[in-house]
Amino acid sequence: MIQGFRGELANASSVLIGTHLNPDGDALGSALAMSLYLDSIGIDNEVLCHHPAPKNLQFLPGVKRIRQHPKGEKHDLAIMLDLDSLDRLGSTEPYFSECPRLIVIDHHVPHEAPGNLRIVETSAAATAVILAQLLEAVGAKITPEMATCLLTGIVTDTGSFRFRNTNPESLAVSSLLLEKGGDLTQVNEEIFQSKQLSAARLLGHTLETMQLACNDQLAWSALSIRDFDFAKATDEDTEGFVNEMLFITSVQIAAIFREPKPGRIRCSLRSRSQYDVAEVAREFGGGGHKNAAGCTFDLTLEEAEDLVVERLKRCLASC
Ligand code: 5GP
Ligand code: MN
Repeated sequence: MIQGFRGELANASSVLIGTHLNPDGDALGSALAMSLYLDSIGIDNEVLCHHPAPKNLQFLPGVKRIRQHPKGEKHDLAIMLDLDSLDRLGSTEPYFSECPRLIVIDHHVPHEAPGNLRIVETSAAATAVILAQLLEAVGAKITPEMATCLLTGIVTDTGSFRFRNTNPESLAVSSLLLEKGGDLTQVNEEIFQSKQLSAARLLGHTLETMQLACNDQLAWSALSIRDFDFAKATDEDTEGFVNEMLFITSVQIAAIFREPKPGRIRCSLRSRSQYDVAEVAREFGGGGHKNAAGCTFDLTLEEAEDLVVERLKRCLASC
């Protein structure tokens, strides 16, 4: 696999790096670390993402290089990180489909398996863990900037080392990244302690209007366009809200439904260990991990809510 990675890079003169839409810290941290690495070995590259970096990830070293469209030249290698299917590339998908070679570096359970070289480990806490190990294996010089990007991926996907995916491997890799000069304090402050006032108000509304079922084991809340307008908030401000519901002692499964634009509903699902919400998300055309998944609907808020809540009740009953 390492030889394969080296070989692909040796034959590449220009690399297109991509990640999933609605990018999180693992998506952008991994993509930017890869870009900084390619810079360091003199390989021309650019980073594409359907959405620009959210506010709380603007601190990432190299963030300004993220573009929605390539500068126009042809690329002979594509590398996509932290996603398991091409359609999650959103509007950048055609640029990746055009590339003659594709490397996938990811930790999701694959439901498609694109790519000429796949470096996929579903047991890894974050794509950034896999990438940090890969960079070490190829003898890369991990700079403090790269280390901060990779730490951001691990901190995001482990909820700052609190989720069940926190394991000896993710801690060991994080320790190495600290040694390389990664700024863990900055990462934690930027990601967890930089809430916009609008987001705090919207979180209040989310918890205030939260609904419960199945002996308070199922919690969900819905945010309409009017709610967003009223709080002067955007969809990216809702990051982490669904976890706040899951952290209530009785709650085993939590869902949040958002209507960031009319007729388009985003749903995020979170569950405690034994419940598999990825399976539920996949039934609705989405995906993710067993305990953190999501899907999108072209329905009204109420319709999406009815469909998913009904299915989640069955999920709870079957365990
Ligand atoms: P979030 O709720 O934070 O948007 O996403 C949680 C997890 O589910 C992430 O790992 C993300 O990649 C995955 N996920 C969210 N929405 C979708 C979707 O529409 N399709 C797929 N395949 N995965 C999704
Ligand atoms: Mn990830």
